[in-house]
Amino acid sequence: MAFSYRDGVLHCEDVPLSEIAERVGTPCYIYSYKAIVEGIRSYLLPLAEVGGIACFAVKANSNLAVLRAVFGEGAGADIVSGGELFRAVRAGVDTQKVVFAGVGKTEKEMEYALRMNILMFNVESWQELELLNEVAGRLGKKAPVAIRINPDVDPETHPYIATGLKKSKFGIDMEEAEEVYKKALSLTNIEVLGIHCHIGSQITKKEPFIDAAERLFSLIDRLNALGVNLKYMDIGGGIGIRYKDEEPPAPSEVISSIKDEVKKRGLTLIMEPGRSVVGNAGVFLTKVLYVKKKAEKLFYVVDGAMNDLARPALYNAYHEVKSVVQKEDSSVIADVVGPICETGDFLAKDRKLPEFEKGELLAVMGAGAYGFTMASNYNSRPRVAEVMVRGNEWFVVRERESYEDLIRGEKIPSFLLGV
Ligand SMILES: *Cc1c(COP(=O)(O)O)cnc(C)c1O
Repeated sequence: MAFSYRDGVLHCEDVPLSEIAERVGTPCYIYSYKAIVEGIRSYLLPLAEVGGIACFAVKANSNLAVLRAVFGEGAGADIVSGGELFRAVRAGVDTQKVVFAGVGKTEKEMEYALRMNILMFNVESWQELELLNEVAGRLGKKAPVAIRINPDVDPETHPYIATGLKKSKFGIDMEEAEEVYKKALSLTNIEVLGIHCHIGSQITKKEPFIDAAERLFSLIDRLNALGVNLKYMDIGGGIGIRYKDEEPPAPSEVISSIKDEVKKRGLTLIMEPGRSVVGNAGVFLTKVLYVKKKAEKLFYVVDGAMNDLARPALYNAYHEVKSVVQKEDSSVIADVVGPICETGDFLAKDRKLPEFEKGELLAVMGAGAYGFTMASNYNSRPRVAEVMVRGNEWFVVRERESYEDLIRGEKIPSFLLGV
């Protein structure tokens, strides 16, 4: 366990969270190096058996140290922007293990990725493919591509993170796929290498993955008959984690249930895990500023807020809240809320919690994925520090922002200065 109580204090590996709070201040994110490594290995090991590739979804956690840790284990990157490619390159990724998804890639991003020789573009529309062909031609290159297919399976997750349904903006519908592949073959600066899908996030059953894979297999076979031979099958990310009581499948379960069909077709399997690698490797540490008792409700007002950790406000997501100093069993019902001027600014709602006093530390669990990467400066709050723990050592892997950072790049035009 990356986070556990020892002598009554919540630790990350061998470091008490209270020690980090004292030295770095709150709020902050704290990641366990060991848990990150275990997370990525849970993909790398079973994928190695089938000669597959794990491309870590950079949007889940894009801190350079976290990226370095997963790349160091042999993973590549799944990126959705030029900025993510920049980060991945800075963290030392092998660009031949980089896949690039997203419905709105710009010309500039295409150029950058072509220059970096990424493994493939996961193309989401016909217009995108045409533009990519043009850009590659201009650079005298052939763009390696997979077509992102929308297999129309219901991942049974939150509607905001279901991406593989027909009504979603992602990918190309099954019915159009053959047409698009045929056309793709006619583009001189496109090299058709694979097929891609990503059906959603926080999926806690293995069936949707198997369903989607089966649909891809049958499409692959139809394409084969048309003379389109693919090398890569990229089934995306999306395996969920336990936030509360979910029982998501292990990566090895998903892989073993499709590997024979993959092998049979001579395909290389790619997976793009994000959340399941880093989600439970991180916590968000925050401090109680005030205990506010109202007639109807008890509020713990903490120094962390929705700009730091958006998931509760955005998806009504559940994150377990633990006391850093171990306490008696839950005894009150309270909301944990931040200082932001929005009613949606909460980290936990109507939660059974211990009685807290001003100044006590809370750990918001499962905050390693889509935590810091979704943070903003709303309410002009500097973004928080990030810390990585390894054994009994810890490192600040991102400094807390300063007020000066908040206004970097802003200018008041001279007419407003009256000169
Ligand atoms: C977000 C995303 C992922 C990662 O999803 P997780 O649920 O974090 O595993 C993988 N691939 C694509 C294309 C994505 O958009």
